[in-house]
Amino acid sequence: EMFGQLTTGLESAWNKLRGVDVLTKENIAEPMRDIRRALLEADVSLPVVRRFIESVSEKAVGTDVIRGVSPDQQLVKVVNDELVQLMGGEVSDLSFAKSGPTVILLAGLQGVGKTTVCAKLALYLKKMGKSCMLVAADVYRPAAIDQLNILGKKVGVPVYSEGTDAKPSQIAKNGLKEGKSQKEDVIIVDTAGRLQVDKAMMNELKEVKKAVNPTEVLLVVDAMTGQEAAGLVSSFNDEIGITGAILTKLDGDSRGGAALSVKEVSGKPIKFVGQGERIEDLEPFYPDRMAQRILGMGDVLSFVEKAQEVMRQEDAEELQKKILSAKFNFNDFLKQTQMIAKMGSFSRLIGMIPGMNKVTPAQIREAEKNLKFMESMINVMTPEERERPELLAESRERRRRVAKDSGKTEQQVSQLVAQLFQMRARMQKMMGAMQGKDSPNMDE
Ligand code: GDP
Repeated sequence: EMFGQLTTGLESAWNKLRGVDVLTKENIAEPMRDIRRALLEADVSLPVVRRFIESVSEKAVGTDVIRGVSPDQQLVKVVNDELVQLMGGEVSDLSFAKSGPTVILLAGLQGVGKTTVCAKLALYLKKMGKSCMLVAADVYRPAAIDQLNILGKKVGVPVYSEGTDAKPSQIAKNGLKEGKSQKEDVIIVDTAGRLQVDKAMMNELKEVKKAVNPTEVLLVVDAMTGQEAAGLVSSFNDEIGITGAILTKLDGDSRGGAALSVKEVSGKPIKFVGQGERIEDLEPFYPDRMAQRILGMGDVLSFVEKAQEVMRQEDAEELQKKILSAKFNFNDFLKQTQMIAKMGSFSRLIGMIPGMNKVTPAQIREAEKNLKFMESMINVMTPEERERPELLAESRERRRRVAKDSGKTEQQVSQLVAQLFQMRARMQKMMGAMQGKDSPNMDE
């Protein structure tokens, strides 16, 4: 099972959170050590593991508790989201040239599956409705040209070759010319691999690249080599400049290190993964699907996402109910101001409301200051007072205390209380006027 060991290693982390109420810095320490160990055993590079652990810890402790979701499930979700980010977030699509044929230059060490990728990619593009041609610029192994010819036949695409005597950059250039005259959409150039990175190979690649000005330069790397693959992507990028990587042999007992390290180590995305020897076995690299495969917990993830969604809805509905029942209190007031703060700065928000563009920046600053001012008084109220503003309306004693604790005057506290009741009344009136409509419109 691919990533099996990593999946199992991570499972022991979730298990350590059984019986815990909420994620804290203390109780996640041990599970985080498990995660760290699992990643290192999967051959993820150490700096990547460090950053990952730091980021997960921070987010895990900082997340709001979601009703019905257990802390271990919550940690699974945080780890999932961070894995997705680590692998580049979004799927990274192939780029195509704006005019003329798109040239894809393939590079890679010997035996990684580069020739196979040529055929796989051609088939993939053909299925997309693009015509395709292969160019054999690997002149060191006659067998490589034969292999490409055989694969080209299998896929049903032409293969351009000049034998082993010509220069690779010249073959690539002629191949491009031929492809242009045949009106091919995409031209895939296969280059020579070596057993190891060496100067001659890099120079040759540079020349080929210069000769055909490719839209994509993709480095093919073997997933079985773990974090070494990520290092290769990095050094090829430094030397010749690449646009992405293709990770092969993900079907073997790859431990995951390559898939998890490439983007973070090299800054370049994995664009495709090969998972088998057949020419059909190539697909775009989807970071989210990969993360789910690693965690093996698709059902937990969709459950947590649903719970989050429900909670957001309940929050909004509760506020709406409060407004309807004239029970709008200082807690709701705070919630509302916090919502506004979350949605970005107050000033930007106001600019977005139609008809509000005549508000001057000075007025906006004033409004923001007012909110802060009111918040500081609400902050020193007792929970009871926030819940039932009547208490403050009825008791001068209480108003005095709030004034003193917040450093405001008694009159200012009275004003705030009066304002809340005015707001209630206004909302009631608004609701009355809007009877029959779905949702209250707050910007009168
Ligand atoms: P090249 O030297 O880089 O051109 O590598 P080849 O394309 O000749 O592939 C080397 C070997 O790896 C061949 O036996 C392929 O069948 C095999 N291979 C390539 N891609 C994959 C893959 O995704 N999974 C598996 N299991 N084998 C692969």
